[in-house]
This record gives sequence, C-alpha cells and structure tokens, in this order.
Amino acid sequence: MKSVSIIGAGPAGIEAAATLAKQGYTVAVFEKSSSPLKNIADKAFLFPNFASAADIVELMNKKLLNQNITMHNDTEIVDMKREGQGWKIVDSKGSSFYSDYVVMATGYTPFDAHRKEELGYGIYGGVVTSLEMEKMIRYNQIVNSLGEKPKRIVFLQCVGSRDEKSGNHYCSKVCCVTAVKQAIEIKRQLPDVEAYVFYMDLRMWGQHFEELYRQSQQEYGVRYVRGRISEASGTFDGRVQIKAEDTLMGLPLKMTTDLLVLMVGMEASEGTRCLAKACGICGDYGFAQSVDPHLGDCLTDQQNLFICGACKRPMSINDAVNDGRSAAIAIMQNE
Ligand SMILES: Cc1cc2nc3c(=O)[nH]c(=O)nc-3n(C[C@H](O)[C@H](O)[C@H](O)COP(=O)(O)OP(=O)(O)OC[C@H]3O[C@@H](n4cnc5c(N)ncnc54)[C@H](O)[C@@H]3O)c2cc1C
Ligand code: SF4
Repeated sequence: MKSVSIIGAGPAGIEAAATLAKQGYTVAVFEKSSSPLKNIADKAFLFPNFASAADIVELMNKKLLNQNITMHNDTEIVDMKREGQGWKIVDSKGSSFYSDYVVMATGYTPFDAHRKEELGYGIYGGVVTSLEMEKMIRYNQIVNSLGEKPKRIVFLQCVGSRDEKSGNHYCSKVCCVTAVKQAIEIKRQLPDVEAYVFYMDLRMWGQHFEELYRQSQQEYGVRYVRGRISEASGTFDGRVQIKAEDTLMGLPLKMTTDLLVLMVGMEASEGTRCLAKACGICGDYGFAQSVDPHLGDCLTDQQNLFICGACKRPMSINDAVNDGRSAAIAIMQNE
C-alpha cells in the first residue's frame, strides 16, 4: 500500500490519517507540538452543543491508535520538495521523510491581540483574549485583574478580522458563536455577572447557532450592542474603561468593565504560510490555495499534494473533520 505523510495533528489531520489508515495506507503524522489537538485541548466546552473538549480530544486521540499510523510529536516540518512521484518533507532538525502523498493540515494561529494596541492587550490586566477566557471557564477561574469575581464582562467581536488596519478583510467565522457560547458559560458559573457583546453584525451561520444566540438573551440576559470599541484604558481600581459608539442609536458611549474579552480571529499558522510557499500553493492572507472551491477544495495544483482544514480558511471543528475525510477520499480516488 502507498504511504502518506500528514502534516499537522489537529481535527482535520487526524481524521485524514484515521480514514487512510483504515483503508490500509501507511500513514505518518507529523505534529510540531508535544501532543495532538493543541487548538482544542485548552478549551472547555465546544459550540454548538457544549460538548466537552476533553471528551472530543480523547475520542480523536483514539482514532490515532491504528497499527498503520506512526505518530511523530515534537516534529515541525519546515520544508517539502517533489521527489519522483512523491514528496520529501524535512523537519526542523534536518531529518527527511519520503512518502507517495502529502496531506497538509497545518491549521491556523489565533490573531495576536498585541497588534491592536488601542485595545490595551498586554497593558491592562483586565483585557484578555477569547483563548484566555476559554481557560478561565475551563478551570472555573473567571476573575478580574485583581483576582476578584467580576461584576461586568464585555466581549468585543472581530478583533483582527474584517479589519482594514490589521490587513485581514475576511470573517473568521467562529468568533461570533464563540462569544455567545462563552457568555452563556460565564452566566452559568457566575449568574450575577452582566455580559455585553459588542458586534458589527452577528454571523450565526451554523445549525443551532441562532437558537444559542436567542437562548443567551432570553435565558441568560446577555446584552448585545451593535458598535465598535475604539479604545480601552485602565482605571485606578484595575478595571477597564472602553470608548465605543452604539451604531444603532448613533451615540458615543463610555463604559467600565472588569474584563474586556477580545474575540481574536484565525490567521494562517506559521507552518501553513511556510509550507504553502515552499510548494507554491499560497492563497490569500497566507492560507493554502485549493484548485477549485466547489469541486476540488482538497486538491492542489501540485501532484499528490492535498490540503484540508483551517490551513485553507477559518472553519469549525466539524468542517475541519469533514474536510480531513474529504482529503483522504481524494487520495483514494487518485489511485
Ligand atoms: C477561541 C476559539 C474557540 C473555538 N471554539 C470552537 C468550538 O467551540 N467549536 C468548534 O467547532 N470550533 C471551535 N474553534 C475552531 C477550531 O479551533 C478549529 O476549527 C480547528 O482547530 C481546526 O482544525 P484543523 O485541524 O484544521 O487545524 P488546527 O487545529 O490548527 O491543527 C493544526 C495542527 O497542525 C500543527 N502544525 C502546524 N504547523 C506545523 C508544522 N509545520 N509541522 C507540524 N505540525 C504543524 C499545529 O501544531 C496543530 O496541531 C475555536 C477557535 C478559537 C480561536
Ligand atoms: S465570526 Fe463574527 S466576530 Fe468573527 S470575524 Fe466574523 S463577524 Fe467578526
């Protein structure tokens, strides 16, 4: 049977690996972190159904327990070249691996909130990212910068997405519903907290998302404000003052909050940028480019090279899993 190298052990890469291994392919999975699924492992519950992230991680890790799969953790792939009919990939220590096919599943990296200086991330302790909020929820430690229970929490959407200044014009797709999910989780842990979500427009594109949005308002009293926050600054008592405009009312407003949660977008990971460049499949914003978004979304214009998951664009876990399976099927059809 032919051999396949899968670069990246996120949901997309693991699903591709498991599908191919079941069909008898010899599969090697390369993951730069010390264990798979690093972008899921630090989360508490997942939209749309509040599934436990730990359970999903366990189930996906089990998929890797197949005699046809060899797992290489702590292995960052930094280069790849065509060799004969297949590919040679090279890791950061200089070791190289040959396979008939390669599946790139190198995923995304969260937008670095330091780049939005005006929002005070890294300056004021009360300004945190959505990833940090995931951890606070997971470990039941939702506290303000003084380590006390917060009275008010404000979420700000579209940080580093749909944003001229940071150069990312695209929508990151998952952050609207993530804010809804986090607001509900916070209200479940701390029912007295006031939760506000500042948005440009809310994009509840997935199944059950609209219902979650409604539930957050009707059952949990989460309040939504259409408006942009232009600036955040610290107060003497460790809180955060925000300046914003309510664009529905046409009114400027100021507000003080214990925590300002920046809903950071998804950018192409460093691995995605570097490998897409190395094999000539660079798309917009550093993501990898398929040959056709309708009928060939896992195919590239390079022979025997396939792509899946968030290395192509922001997507949710179920989309990434389905896409990993699609890449595996595309390889089978290539035989
Ligand atoms: C704050 C936040 C909350 C979210 N919550 C949810 C949720 O509740 N539900 C949901 O469906 N989705 C959620 N998502 C989205 C979810 O994280 C993605 O859909 C999913 O991680 C995409 O999977 P992937 O396999 O395509 O990419 P990734 O998860 O990014 O996996 C890519 C893997 O490739 C590895 N890699 C990268 N470069 C290299 C290299 N050069 N060599 C070797 N390995 C490499 C990385 O270490 C990583 O493990 C959330 C996202 C964010 C930002
Ligand atoms: S999903 Fe929502 S928060 Fe994220 S970029 Fe799109 S509109 Fe903005």
